[in-house]
Amino acid sequence: MPPPIFRPRAAVLGSTQLRPCTTQVARDDQPIQHVTSVLNECKSAGTNYLAKLLHQGHIEVLDKETNAKYRKMYGGGDWDVPVLAGHKSFPWARSVPSTEEVQYMIKTDMCTTGSYRLWPTATIGESQVEAARLVTGITEPKFQGQGHSIRNLIAPSLDSWPASNSLAEWEGDGVLRQSTFQATVMPSKGLIDIVHHEQWTVSTLMTGTRVLLVFGPTKKNLDKLRAHYDQLAGDAQLNTWNMINDLEGGIAFVQQAGETAYIAPFCCFASFSIPTSTSAERYITIAANKYLMRLQNLPVYLAWNKLYQDNFQQTRLSEYMKILADDLNRIMGKSIPDCDTSATIIQICQAWDRVKCGVIKACAEIWNEKHREEVFESFETAWLRIMTGENRKDNLCPICAREMVADDTRTQAGKALAHFTFVHWKGVELPEPRTTRSMAAK
Ligand SMILES: [Zn+2]
Repeated sequence: MPPPIFRPRAAVLGSTQLRPCTTQVARDDQPIQHVTSVLNECKSAGTNYLAKLLHQGHIEVLDKETNAKYRKMYGGGDWDVPVLAGHKSFPWARSVPSTEEVQYMIKTDMCTTGSYRLWPTATIGESQVEAARLVTGITEPKFQGQGHSIRNLIAPSLDSWPASNSLAEWEGDGVLRQSTFQATVMPSKGLIDIVHHEQWTVSTLMTGTRVLLVFGPTKKNLDKLRAHYDQLAGDAQLNTWNMINDLEGGIAFVQQAGETAYIAPFCCFASFSIPTSTSAERYITIAANKYLMRLQNLPVYLAWNKLYQDNFQQTRLSEYMKILADDLNRIMGKSIPDCDTSATIIQICQAWDRVKCGVIKACAEIWNEKHREEVFESFETAWLRIMTGENRKDNLCPICAREMVADDTRTQAGKALAHFTFVHWKGVELPEPRTTRSMAAK
């Protein structure tokens, strides 16, 4: 099946502050007794283990104290810690749909797009049978099936529902792209294993109840997650509970139908459905403070991508790297409406020499030579925008602050490209360029 397609929506409005929805009522105070009692409604290995970790204090509940305690670990911003918004943030200009309406919509979208994934994975034949069973079971709160869930169902029916103001207001901080709606179907006592997304995950529960478990995007957590993906690639039935015990900064909360959860990029999270549940997700990619994370965490993406079949891996990887280069181009070109990316550019320039090897390695894993070279060239084009732009007059490199020197007959762009290629990209090291300090000393 084709990979999810991310399409930028129309004009980006709003301020440079991330304000998903000003009218939402955050439900950020959940007593531990409430979370535990919901987990106890559903006796499964996963919920039992989660209740135990909550009791031991290894995982905290979503409340103001937890948010204050973990805010820095999650990135420091107001929306970096998980946010659960009430019914006023419902993305559609209508009330919460009935389970029958949701079932009809999902059944229709499965027939028209046929684009979804089963988690855990199954053979194509098994997938179709199990997916059909899951859709039939949406109206049965205790339906369990074989323990699979439907993920990433491309759902044009949800896109066609009139959006409420809360959807329109989710702008700011340089929105690079927003996905269309994708639907998830989880059976009773279902589990979606620990995963991460490179974008903001905005997930509205349409029917049922579930418990979400979120961990901050720390280096320790992402290293563990990468190792977990590597193991999963070799053993799809791997038990993940020991891994959860190794993660830090866990926050658990109950989500009811009509509520929307906001989870920041690179947070690791798992979902536990109590009765049969359905949700609608959007994935939002922003520039400010988060683009650099995508470069830094390419090894995590590569490990995650290896969970797909070979040909699909390659399609996904080429597309992902092309989008990464295109986004860099837009940031460097300051062409994101209503967003000043100057601070993001400085952040990327300062970190580039530390992350470039990871970028080159990811590009090198694209087998198709034409696609690989196109991605390499896209990154070079993006960097030339800034190297021949603001610093053109003084000819200083925005990455290393040294003068960009080369054969004197070259044009300014030629010198910049030579300096970037040989010093900051895939070329061999040139002799030490002259610095402004050494020039001044002459
Ligand atoms: Zn340089």
